[in-house]
Amino acid sequence: MEFVEKKLDGSRIAAEVRDEVAAEVAILSRRGVIPRLDAVLVGEDPASKVYVGSKAKTLATLGMISETHHLAQDVPQAELESVIDRLNADSEVDGILVQLPLPDAIDTAAILRRVYPTKDVDGFHPENVGLLQQGNPRMVPCTPAGIMEMFRREDIAIEGRRAVVVGRSDIVGKPMAMLLLHAHATVTMCHSRTRDLADVTREAEILIAAVGVRSLIGPEHVADSAVVVDVGMHRVTDLETVERLYPGNQKKLAAFEKRGAVLTGDVDYTRVAPKASRITPVPGGVGPLTIAMLTANTVKAAKLRRGIG
Ligand code: NAP
Repeated sequence: MEFVEKKLDGSRIAAEVRDEVAAEVAILSRRGVIPRLDAVLVGEDPASKVYVGSKAKTLATLGMISETHHLAQDVPQAELESVIDRLNADSEVDGILVQLPLPDAIDTAAILRRVYPTKDVDGFHPENVGLLQQGNPRMVPCTPAGIMEMFRREDIAIEGRRAVVVGRSDIVGKPMAMLLLHAHATVTMCHSRTRDLADVTREAEILIAAVGVRSLIGPEHVADSAVVVDVGMHRVTDLETVERLYPGNQKKLAAFEKRGAVLTGDVDYTRVAPKASRITPVPGGVGPLTIAMLTANTVKAAKLRRGIG
C-alpha cells in the first residue's frame, strides 16, 4: 500500500499553485498583460499590515504588480468609497482587495458591495456570493478555495461524505460549506449556539474548524480517521501555553525562543493528530494556501476582464 503522509502540507501545495500561477503570468505578459492587484489597507493594525505586505510580496515574486493604498484609521466612509471607485474605474487595475477588518465606523458591507464584482478577488461581493450559492462560482473566497484545491491535489474524496464546518463567517465558514455541498458532501454547519458541539463534530469524516477560538477542537470532537482542516490562526506569546499545547516538541520550543511567539490554530494539533487520517498544521497549512489562491484569483480577474479563456 502506498504510504500517505498524515500531515497535509499546505506550504508544498501552495508552492505548486504559485508555480502554475507564475507560468500563467509569463504567458499573459508575453501578450502584454501583467496582472495587477491593488490592496486597500485602513489603519495601523499590525496583523493587517503583515498580511497585506506578504500578499504584495508574493504577487511580486510571481511577476505581478501590486499596489497598496494605505488610509488613516479615521478615514471617512465617503473617502474610502471614492478610493474604491477610482480603482474600479482604473483600467490598469485587475483586482481589488480590501483588507478586513475595517474600523467600526466604516460600513463594511457597503464597501464590499462597491468593489466591481469582476475585480473582487476576495469573492465577497453579493454577486459573487450568489454565483457560488447557485453552483456557478466565479471569484471564490481564497481560504475555502485553497482548502478545496488541497483536497483535489491530495485526492481527498468529498462526494457522499459527511462534512462538518465549525464557524459560519461570510469569509470562511459559509463559502466552505457551499463548496463542499456542491462537491456532494453532506454538510452540517456549527456555530456558537450549537448544542453538544462534540456530538455533532464526531459525525464528521471531513472536519473544518474556522472558529477563531484557540485549541477549541480536541480529540473528543474528532472521529477516528477524520480529515481535519484547521483554519484558525492565533499567536501564542507565553511559554507555559506553548509547553501545554506542544509537550516535548523541541521544534516548537526553539521557534518560540527565536521569535517570542508561535502560531497555533483552532485545533489542538498534538492531541487530535493521532486520531485524524489527514490534518493541516498551523503554521504551514491553510495560511499559505489562502495567499496562493489570491494570486490565482488575481490572474483570473485579469483574464476575465479581457475575455481571455
Ligand atoms: P469569525 O468571523 O469570528 O467567525 C467565527 C465563527 O465561529 C462564528 O460563526 C462563530 O459563531 C463561531 N464560533 C465562535 N465560537 C464558537 C464556539 N465556541 N463553538 C462553535 N462555534 C463558535 O471568524 P473567521 O473570519 O471565520 O475566522 C476564523 C479563524 O480563522 C480565525 O482564527 C481567523 O484568524 C482564521 N482565519 C485564517 C485564515 C487563513 O488564511 N489561515 C483566513 C481567514 C481566517 P457565531 O456565528 O454564532 O458567532
